Amino acid sequence: MKSCKFTFWEVLINKKEFKGKVALVTGASRGIGKVIALELAKCGASVAINYNSNLRLAKDTLKRVRSFGVNGEIIKANVSKEKEVKYLIRKTEKKLGPIDLLITNAGILHVPKDVLDLDYTIWKKIMSTNVDGTFLPIKEVIPGMIKRKFGRIVCISSIAGLGKRPNMIAYGTSKASVIALARNLAEAVAPYIRINTVAPGLIETDMAKAFSKETKKNIIKNTPLKRLGTSEDIANSVIYLLSEQSSFITGQTLIVDGGKVVLPVSYTHLRAHETGRN
Ligand code: NAP
Repeated sequence: MKSCKFTFWEVLINKKEFKGKVALVTGASRGIGKVIALELAKCGASVAINYNSNLRLAKDTLKRVRSFGVNGEIIKANVSKEKEVKYLIRKTEKKLGPIDLLITNAGILHVPKDVLDLDYTIWKKIMSTNVDGTFLPIKEVIPGMIKRKFGRIVCISSIAGLGKRPNMIAYGTSKASVIALARNLAEAVAPYIRINTVAPGLIETDMAKAFSKETKKNIIKNTPLKRLGTSEDIANSVIYLLSEQSSFITGQTLIVDGGKVVLPVSYTHLRAHETGRN
């Protein structure tokens, strides 16, 4: 068999999959968002780098994005505030052009010491950052994407939104909402816009500092692939879902967690199998 000269990844980079496209990544000053911004730049996209408070790190992302020979801008905006999100979209489009690729990545985590510490102030903060912060940028970009008949959106959720996490009730609920939002929107915005979700397991970023060494060891023990995830693992999946390699995929959740969560086959599937329907 003739061996393929390039990997899937090299093909996307070599043909500059996103050349001429404008991408906006929320929460791209550090962590997963930063690596997504860099991978998009590698594939030729102009990248708007959103941040909330960390200007120094956002500047570093910008420098590295521009080192790939593409345009980049940093834009401060709190994604939980409608006014600031409107400004974020306006500024991106003014500086770089209409948004083709949106990655809603900005998010926060809170792990209460007591599982029943259901603090309403914290609940509201998590919901507004993780859910409103996903909804607002999507709401702002959809009309333009529909008009131009092109749009790709990837939302970052979490496996906490899929399973049960008694110590992360607010966070888990917010991440389940992100999945429901993307799933419900997918049909409404089809066929020109595709929207999917990535659900990471534990990834080694600042956010993971909320967990003790012991907890991390346990997670690794219970993960079939025997390691924690990296921001690159998540960025690779995001790039795939934005690219034309996934052109028949919308409304889906891609779980990237080393096999930790294995979803049961749904009852509907079993019934269809039993009755010979599909
Ligand atoms: P991180 O290292 O803590 O970085 C969070 C990013 O979000 C930063 O760029 C931060 O900006 C930005 N941000 C936070 N609140 C914001 C707001 N209100 N407005 C705009 N930007 C805001 O987190 P991460 O680990 O990269 O997580 C990225 C996404 O992946 C989140 O949605 C998270 O829930 C999800 N996720 C992470 C893990 C994990 O284990 N790390 C697992 C599953 C899912 P500043 O730097 O300016 O504060």
